[in-house]
This record gives sequence, structure tokens and C-alpha cells, in this order.
Amino acid sequence: MTYAYDDQNIFAKILAGDIPNKTVSETEHTLAFHDINPQAPHHVLVIPKGPYVTGDHFARDASDAEIIDFWRTYGAICADLGVTPDTGEGYRIISNAGRDGVQDVPHFHLHILAGRPLGRMLNPA
Ligand code: 5GP
Repeated sequence: MTYAYDDQNIFAKILAGDIPNKTVSETEHTLAFHDINPQAPHHVLVIPKGPYVTGDHFARDASDAEIIDFWRTYGAICADLGVTPDTGEGYRIISNAGRDGVQDVPHFHLHILAGRPLGRMLNPA
């Protein structure tokens, strides 16, 4: 199993600084920014800086440091947004992968959606 990373994808260009973004947070291994087409009052994308195509690719090939940094960043953003269910109203994370997952940008990303009731998990295809 091998993934071919397209280094011309839109998030690679954001990471290279060629396309602007509205940054939410940045760490050594992770960047988070507002989605350009938000589907909820809060819609943040969290991406590793490394060249990973999907979540499974990241889980398999990323270093421990990258993985820890990514998930700590996600947790901190949810806390900063005030949406964690212990103190707020909750949220949803989504990571689309491949054709059936309807992934548009082939660089692993987590959608954090929050700020309104988000409905059931899936709509009919
Ligand atoms: P996917 O369908 O791959 O899971 O989601 C890709 C997401 O990237 C979409 O929600 C889309 O709105 C967002 N997106 C696409 N191009 C850009 C861009 O240039 N800037 C930002 N901030 N988001 C983008």
C-alpha cells in the first residue's frame, strides 16, 4: 500500500505560503485554519504539515511527534472554541478519504464543525 502525494494540492500551497489562509493555530507539525466555505458557525480545518493524503496514511506513516502534535492541537482548538461537551454544546469531526469518502483535497485534514445542531451523522448518498 503506497500513497502518491500531490504536492500541488491546495493545502500544500497553503502550507508553502502561496495561498493565504485565516490561521487558527500553528505548531511545529500542524496548521489549523478556517474553511473557506464554512458549513457551520465554526468550521476549522486541522492539517499536518507533512505530506499525508488521508487519515490512515497519517496514522501509518507519521512520526509519534507529528501524531501527538496533531491531536493535541485538535483538542486545544475545541477547547478554545468553547465547544467541548463538558463545558459547551459539542461539535463534530469529519475526515473524508478517497472516492467514497468524497475527499476533495488530497492532503489529510480534520473538519471541526460546531456552533449549531449538526443533525444526524450521514445523509443518504
Ligand atoms: P474535503 O471535501 O476534501 O473533505 O474538504 C475540503 C475542504 O477544503 C472543503 O470544506 C473546502 O471548503 C475547503 N477548501 C478548499 N479550498 C480551500 C482554500 O483555498 N482555503 C480554505 N481555507 N479552505 C479550502
